[in-house]
Parts: sequence; C-alpha cells; structure tokens
Amino acid sequence: MPELPEVETVLRTLEHQIQKQKIIDIDIRWDRIVQGDNDEFKQTLIGQEFVDFKRRGKYLLFIMNDCILVSHLRMEGKYFYVDKDTPVDKHTHVIFKLSNNLELRYNDTRKFGRMEILPKDTDLDTFKNLGYEPWDERLTSAYCKSVLRKRTGPIKGALLDQSFIAGIGNIYADEICFKMGVDPRKACKKITKKNCEDLIIATREILQRAIECGGTTIRSYTSSLGITGLFQLEVYVHGKKDEVCPVCGTPIKKIRVATRGTYFCPNCQKR
Ligand SMILES: [Zn+2]
Repeated sequence: MPELPEVETVLRTLEHQIQKQKIIDIDIRWDRIVQGDNDEFKQTLIGQEFVDFKRRGKYLLFIMNDCILVSHLRMEGKYFYVDKDTPVDKHTHVIFKLSNNLELRYNDTRKFGRMEILPKDTDLDTFKNLGYEPWDERLTSAYCKSVLRKRTGPIKGALLDQSFIAGIGNIYADEICFKMGVDPRKACKKITKKNCEDLIIATREILQRAIECGGTTIRSYTSSLGITGLFQLEVYVHGKKDEVCPVCGTPIKKIRVATRGTYFCPNCQKR
C-alpha cells in the first residue's frame, strides 16, 4: 500500500507530466471508483486544467481551475500516462483524455481506490480529519505528548492513526519505532517526552529519505512503465523476520500489533 513517500512521488511525477493539461473527456469504466454521481463528476472536470498538485496524508489533490480532484490509491491504485492508442488494460477503470492527445489512466487491480471532487475552497487543514503533516511546525513533542497521554493502546496504533500524524502506514510505522528505539507495543500513556522528540525526528528523517529515494526513481520513469511510486525501500526491520538487526545482530521478530503484522528488534526496542 502506498504511504506518504510513494504518494508524494506519484504526485511529483504527475506534476511533471500533466501540469496545465486540459481534460477533454473522461471514460469511467468502473463506476464505484468515483464517489458520487458519475455524470456530474465528468461534467465538472471536462474542460478543466491540472493547475497544481498537492498532497495531504496519502491523498493526491489535483487542484483544477474550479475544483479539487481528490484521489486515494488505497492498496493498488496506479496512474499511467500513455498515448491514446495504447491498448486499454482490463484493470484500467478511469481514463482522463487530455488536450495533448495523451491519456491519464487510473489502474487498480483491487478496485479499492477512490476519487471525488471537492470545492476549491475546501479547508485542507481539516481535510478528512487528518492530523498534521510530518513537517508541520505545529507537530511538536508537547503536542505529541498531549495526544498520546490521553490515548489507550500501543504506540504503533497511534502512528497508524491518520488523525494523529498524516501519511504513515504499516511499513514506516515499524521503521519509526525502530529508529526511536521503542517497542511498538509500548503503551501510548507511557511514551515519554524524549520518546516524542525522537518520534518527530525519526518520522521526518525516514519519510524524507524515502521521498528522496522516490525522487531518484522519478527520473527513470517512462510513460510506458507507468507510475507506481514504489521504489527500493531502505528498511531496517519491516518484512525482515529472522534476519539480524543491523544494529545489534539480534534476530528480528514478527508479532501482531494494532491488528497489523509488526517487525521489531527485541533487543534495541524497549517497552
Ligand atoms: Zn537490535
């Protein structure tokens, strides 16, 4: 599932490719991808240009002339930017026909992704009840402490909660806990001020680094490869069950925390 860095990569790739392109027609082939009335969706977007490209959490926000097109990739959503004569894949569900004779195609093998139109003046600060972006200066250790103090359950659950910090998913939550040196099961109530400082530093460093890795991938993308936003992740613990911890050599353990498969080093990460 794409997390913040992958969504950012997709967004910057698309910005490079389709900025200022006008939508001249839309073909919706699986109507549940589009929330609300499909004809209204088409009527609103046809004739509009892709003006600006923003992200909130894991949402792509295409700022059009008179509205915002919101897209969430969920598990498997991908965009392809192709010539109009390219054969349409069976997993392509929405086709935006552009004024330059190219097409932006939304592909989703699992059909979980969603698109919707919002008014241009939508308040992005409170959008979808999302918490602060990782680099928001309002995200301070005092803020984290005040939220976590009132929260039940493990720290990993808080990291996955999009209303706490926006954009973190299962992979990066494990990596952040590892970098913090904190057991993912540690109760939110027991998270210290120091843990909160480490949490913010770890979150920013890990996500920034992942975006930079994605950025290097962008340059090698071609339209025929599509835009998956997936790149070689630099992971220390996630998905590494029984491999040795890169810091201390202890085998990485896999457990279930907050209903998700969770990887951690039982020696480096303290409860
Ligand atoms: Zn270790």
